[in-house]
Amino acid sequence: MTTTAYRAPWIIAFQDGEHRLLRDGVVVVSGSSVVHVGPTLPEEVDRVVDLPETLVTPGFISTHAHLHSSPVDKSVQEDIGNRQFWLTGLIEILPLEIAGLDAQAKRLCVDYSLPEVVRGGATTVMEIGDTSEYVAEAAERAGVRCYVGETYRSGRWHTPDGRRVEYDWDEAAGERAFSRAVELVERLDQGPDGLVRGFLAPAQVDTCSERLLRETALAADELDVPVSIHAAQGVWEFNEMTRRHGLTPIEWLHSIDFLSRRVIIGHGIFTTGHSWVNFAGDDLRLLAETDAAVAYSCWCFARRGFVMESFSRYLDAGVRMCLGTDTAPQSMIEGMRWTAVTGKIASRRSDVSTARDVFDAATVKAADSLGRPDLGRIERGAKADLLFWDTATPRMSPLRDPLRTLVYYGTEGDLRDVMVDGAWVMRDRVIDWADETELSRGVQDAARRMWQVAPQVDWAGRTLDEMCPPLLADFA
Ligand SMILES: [Zn+2]
Repeated sequence: MTTTAYRAPWIIAFQDGEHRLLRDGVVVVSGSSVVHVGPTLPEEVDRVVDLPETLVTPGFISTHAHLHSSPVDKSVQEDIGNRQFWLTGLIEILPLEIAGLDAQAKRLCVDYSLPEVVRGGATTVMEIGDTSEYVAEAAERAGVRCYVGETYRSGRWHTPDGRRVEYDWDEAAGERAFSRAVELVERLDQGPDGLVRGFLAPAQVDTCSERLLRETALAADELDVPVSIHAAQGVWEFNEMTRRHGLTPIEWLHSIDFLSRRVIIGHGIFTTGHSWVNFAGDDLRLLAETDAAVAYSCWCFARRGFVMESFSRYLDAGVRMCLGTDTAPQSMIEGMRWTAVTGKIASRRSDVSTARDVFDAATVKAADSLGRPDLGRIERGAKADLLFWDTATPRMSPLRDPLRTLVYYGTEGDLRDVMVDGAWVMRDRVIDWADETELSRGVQDAARRMWQVAPQVDWAGRTLDEMCPPLLADFA
């Protein structure tokens, strides 16, 4: 096996349990792993590659993604209000995306999304959806590390009148979908060399029965896999859970023994202490005590006018905070910046939600949630999932403290090369396994078909232009 040494002036290397800055160092890769990192070149390497003007960081881990649908989130969610459902797009817009994307369109979205997440710095992505078999194949082909979870639920929400949310229950269908999700996990290679692995993805806290979630927790232990569930993602959902159980979404999950170190809560925004729910209790303590994690996809909510209150409060409470990409754009770089900046605004402080906090969330904290001490860090024995950033760019220079520059100023254009499992998935900003222009045209067509479906899906039969009016009048 060839061993290659990459010499660079800036390396974020892992030492004694934390990221540290290694100046003028070397990372040696052999096969799929890092076999050495340090200030000096070991004697036995086959090849030395000098990378002047380069920052090397571990690849990022997106712990919340919907590759099969997120591309069509654009221009149907922004600059509109929805006071009845506390500004969420989940009640009126999401059903349109579910109904408007056929199987072919979802596969196209997956093909479009994989290069997008790579350009945004993710080398590992957790896909939550209903196109899992295809995602597993596509990720394997692309060489992108992926966890796939086929969603299942006991019911679905809908609004009959734009005023209230109702639930249609079919518990037997939920049980059948759960069995299929377990079978998928069993088919995927969960071994140390598996690039694509499985996890369990009960869809949402308000759409899954207690029985389904208890079965999920047991199966996850048996299969030894992570679990992801959407919870505390909207005020309507928070109120629904308190109405049903007298408990917050997090308290209810805790009360049915669901929370554990395996669990990643998707979003987790509306917890006790958030000003929009003003509900007494200590959700964060329950999360911290059970070692459950939260995957925060900041932009997804910030664009609708609300954020977590606050990222640093969760950290202070001892909650393992991770980041997700979720909606469009599927960019971990942007996600880190939104999280850091809005965290400061929500805390009314400038010394919290630091670049280091969000970098940890995007790397080691996420790896811990997956039970993967070999991801999210550059150290001997870790997987060679590496990002090579060009520092001789307007955005990346001047460079004094790389995490600050990267998080507050870096862009996708500054990311030059991406390695996953010791293999290149992007070189010199070129991705040779996807025709991104053709895929963009395909997504345009898929979205256009979806937009047409609105009157058949919307409770009031509105067109998309009625639901989300164009910002500009047509030029006459
Ligand atoms: Zn989601």
